[in-house]
Amino acid sequence: DVRVRFCPSPTGNPHVGLIRSALYNWAFARHYGGTFVFRIEDTDASRDSEESYEALLASLRWLGLTWDEGPEVGGDAGPYRQSQRRELYDDVARKLAEAGKAYPCYCTTAELEERREAARAAGKPSGYDGHCRSLTPEQIAAFQAEGRESVLRMRTPDETVRFTDLIRGEISVDQDNLFDYVLVRANGHPLYTLVNPVDDALMGITHVLRGEDLLSSTPRQLVLHEALRDLGIASGPLPRFGHLPLVTGEGGKKLSKREPESSLQLYLDRGFLREGLLNYLALLGWAIGEDREVFSMEEMAEAFDITRVNSNAARFDLKKAEAINGIWLRRLPVEELAERMVPHLQDAGLLEHPPTPESVEVLRAATPLVQERMAVLDESVGMLGFLFAADDAFQLDAGDAAKVLTADARSVLEAARSALGELETWATEPIQDALKAALVEGLGLKPRLAFGPVRVAVTGRRVSPPLFESMELLGRERTLARIDAALP
Ligand code: GLU
Repeated sequence: DVRVRFCPSPTGNPHVGLIRSALYNWAFARHYGGTFVFRIEDTDASRDSEESYEALLASLRWLGLTWDEGPEVGGDAGPYRQSQRRELYDDVARKLAEAGKAYPCYCTTAELEERREAARAAGKPSGYDGHCRSLTPEQIAAFQAEGRESVLRMRTPDETVRFTDLIRGEISVDQDNLFDYVLVRANGHPLYTLVNPVDDALMGITHVLRGEDLLSSTPRQLVLHEALRDLGIASGPLPRFGHLPLVTGEGGKKLSKREPESSLQLYLDRGFLREGLLNYLALLGWAIGEDREVFSMEEMAEAFDITRVNSNAARFDLKKAEAINGIWLRRLPVEELAERMVPHLQDAGLLEHPPTPESVEVLRAATPLVQERMAVLDESVGMLGFLFAADDAFQLDAGDAAKVLTADARSVLEAARSALGELETWATEPIQDALKAALVEGLGLKPRLAFGPVRVAVTGRRVSPPLFESMELLGRERTLARIDAALP
């Protein structure tokens, strides 16, 4: 049975590279009808935060990347927060030490540094030199009498470690690069090097799909997996590994966690849809087929093949992400799109909490006017603000007003005002007919020059949803008041 895991450390805000890893693991699990395990690697109390933990859970939930085992849902292999698994790690560390698979090392930092320097100077590998590999009981007693403390080091084999990466093919690391690494600090604190593979083993993980930045730790982890099997702590075949391509930003550099565009929150704030964002993230290293970029997560799960993931770095392209999102946005039923715009309009102070029934009605009526014009939900604020702004808060865009509401515009607005004032029925078509008659035919203006001033007066901007529909929704009184107020 396929079992994969997503195991972030709860530090900082979730970023897009991390979510891409979650998505690929999720799709892999769903493809095989396997189990998607969500584990929290919170063993670094100085960097981990509860806030970040909550944000991770909320992000996965919002995206719909449901997990089968993990926080809040439980499971047989729990607990799923490493901070609650300390006894298990202590127990494994003790067994490794007793079996001689790991050993205590009493070297001080200064001693290690000195020998490392010497090795470097001699052009030799500068990893740990195995100094404490075979201490006698007497030597150990002497170190302890000196008051020295020990770390626990893994005894790595004197041979080349090979494995077949699901994405990258054959990988081999020779022993010179596989020095004995630290599993447990002198203060007894277990490290990532121990807890990550131990949990993968104890949780029966079959496939480890994670970022390329972790490729170099895989040979070491395989050594530990072997040891755990030798000791009967784990059973079954070794996990298979697949290292996902780096996600880069503009200029081909790794999209670092610190860059604002790497933060998932940015995309939520801008109003990406979960469907659009996931669809775009899926494209960072994988394609469902030639010339096909738009697909649902169900379609992805059905088609996902880890061996077809590209090993080349994938560049994050915001424009493309928006374009994909726009496609999903246009597919939403009107009512649903209206609903998804609500929080953005609320954040901008344009709708109440909860919105009044009247404003919901206006919003639904206005939604078809903007659906084709938006890529992200946050654009609704600029496009629909004029409909929801309180009359005393409505403001013209200063730049647009300066360009369009020139002295010449006065006669246009006055003609519009009187034509509209006489209308019997306030509806899109009569509004359009009346304005055409008054401005295009009456004043002999080209449509752009005729309607531009009216548009800016009524919507505040030169770019707006369709004008006549907008005026109908705004209502006669408010429309006329705005034209009056805009007279230059
Ligand atoms: N907690 C590790 C990280 O966030 C997990 C690495 C892994 O997937 O093995 O980098």
